[in-house]
Amino acid sequence: MLVDLDHLFANPIFQADRCSINFHFLHTYYAMLIYVLLLFFRKPFNVIGIGLLFHMLTDFINCLIMYSGCKECFADSPAIELLKATSRLLGI
Ligand SMILES: [Zn+2]
Repeated sequence: MLVDLDHLFANPIFQADRCSINFHFLHTYYAMLIYVLLLFFRKPFNVIGIGLLFHMLTDFINCLIMYSGCKECFADSPAIELLKATSRLLGI
């Protein structure tokens, strides 16, 4: 996915135990708001919006799996509140 290009602007580019949600520019809650808005536009914008939101979802699930394995590791993650709330909701 093209959206992961913004991972390239991060330093370091790849860090195994980092949650990309709310960390990278295109993975912020503000960016997601724009992706939701894209859904109301015509093709191909709505399709792009679906793709981007789906990417956020998979990134987030990835974060959740890592978070459930090591909660202390994500204490300073920009998405920690969302991770906490979701894991509480899911009971993990
Ligand atoms: Zn990503």
